[in-house]
Amino acid sequence: MKVVTTAGELAAEWEAARRAGAVIGYVPTMGALHEGHLSLVGLAREECDLVICSIFVNPLQFGLDEDFESYPRPMERDLELLKDRDTDIAFLPSWTEIFPGRERVLDDFGTHVSVPRLSHQLCGRSREGHFDGMVTESLLFLNLVRPDRTYWGEKDFQQLRIIETLVQDMRLPVTVVRGATKREPDGLAMSSRNKNLGPEARATAPRLRGVLEDMRARVRSGEPLPTVLAAGRERLASLGFAVEYLVACEEEALTEVRSVDGPVPVRLFAAARLGGVRLLDNIPLTEANHD
Ligand code: AMP
Repeated sequence: MKVVTTAGELAAEWEAARRAGAVIGYVPTMGALHEGHLSLVGLAREECDLVICSIFVNPLQFGLDEDFESYPRPMERDLELLKDRDTDIAFLPSWTEIFPGRERVLDDFGTHVSVPRLSHQLCGRSREGHFDGMVTESLLFLNLVRPDRTYWGEKDFQQLRIIETLVQDMRLPVTVVRGATKREPDGLAMSSRNKNLGPEARATAPRLRGVLEDMRARVRSGEPLPTVLAAGRERLASLGFAVEYLVACEEEALTEVRSVDGPVPVRLFAAARLGGVRLLDNIPLTEANHD
């Protein structure tokens, strides 16, 4: 595995791969890798000749009161994991490589990309500017890496839809590939932030997924969606979760629905805090795909 830190080195690798006719796969991450990230690397490995994984904790997508400084950065371990999974290139650019000439100030990056139709609901409500920061940096990285295929997790379904929309609307010459949510054996969706859960919260955290599954069963057995949503919120609150949202949305447009009778696939989306950690999860409501 090559560890590449500059855009210039990466471009040289890209030219060589192109000359050899290689299909280039790309997995963007913020590091603190777990099986969720590595499953995307595995998918890329199956489908591509050259697998590139980037690790960059993107300041543009963190709010001022969020955990940018304390976000875990276990670099040695991450590199070992990527090597184990047969990654060809780990792209680890420095801050100045990505933001040349800029100090550690978040708001002086001149260009902002936005997918407004999908960015203000769900997580966008509480994390203002988060998705604009995410999509701005993602476009920058897609331009540096220039992959044929890029791999994104359904765990962050809103993010995935925003990237798919960016690629579609801007006709970016890349295919976005979805990876299913990877879970701990007890059902908790894997996340780099799970290690911040204390023992008690860690024991309760899988209940989030359990409640979503119960809700799905109730909807499928014919209970009205608004009743099921209200009961789900109450159940989570009684388990100690501070629910930020628990809603059903169309998968494509991410607009909220109040019934599942329409022709389009619908998903349940949840964000809730537990023991100081913000947990996210989603499961398909109307289709038995993936989860
Ligand atoms: P992050 O490092 O959190 O920015 O995530 C990098 C990529 O890994 C994103 O496409 C995430 O959606 C994906 N990812 C994170 N957690 C999981 C998971 N549990 N299962 C599948 N993909 C995941």
